[in-house]
Amino acid sequence: PLDDKLQYVSDSIRMVPDFPKKGILFQDITTLTRDPKALKLCVEAFVERYRGQKIDVVAGIEARGFIFGPPLAMALGVGFVPLRKPGKLPGETIGAEYQLEYGSDRIEMTVESITKGQNVVIIDDLIATGGTLGAAVQLVEKVGAKVHEAACVVELPELQGRAKLKATNVPLFVLLEKA
Ligand code: AMP
Repeated sequence: PLDDKLQYVSDSIRMVPDFPKKGILFQDITTLTRDPKALKLCVEAFVERYRGQKIDVVAGIEARGFIFGPPLAMALGVGFVPLRKPGKLPGETIGAEYQLEYGSDRIEMTVESITKGQNVVIIDDLIATGGTLGAAVQLVEKVGAKVHEAACVVELPELQGRAKLKATNVPLFVLLEKA
């Protein structure tokens, strides 16, 4: 059973059937972020998890990791690094590919934005199959940094993302599980 605070956060997420395509039950976190109490409780839950943990960087995954990452980074007194869709970042980048149901996708990181030995929290709104987070872990590890933990607001346990991430030996922290 969830405590009252996480229950409030959970209830603030609108579930939209058949978006963006038929058969997907979309977890809409914009109804969370526009509710000041839900937004505060959600960010505070992440801050509580990582305060005092020697984190050097928060890395957020485009696009919704850009919402939860910066307030966490600010509370921890560290910087925020965006992991972006292809072609968005200037300068020297590295990329990692991951499989989608049909085809593949890619995320990129500015090479010098995270340095060897740094301890990184990767954040996104949701883990489904774990493909996106898995690619993010590859990027951070490619530059010799350590992923302290991957963090999401929502886990869809049926899609087995946790097992996929386990193969990378990176722990997964989620606030909520949704069917
Ligand atoms: P995956 O790579 O399969 O773990 O998918 C995770 C990414 O896709 C996250 O960036 C989510 O924002 C998005 N996503 C996947 N499934 C959903 C869903 N049911 N509701 C909202 N976002 C989703």
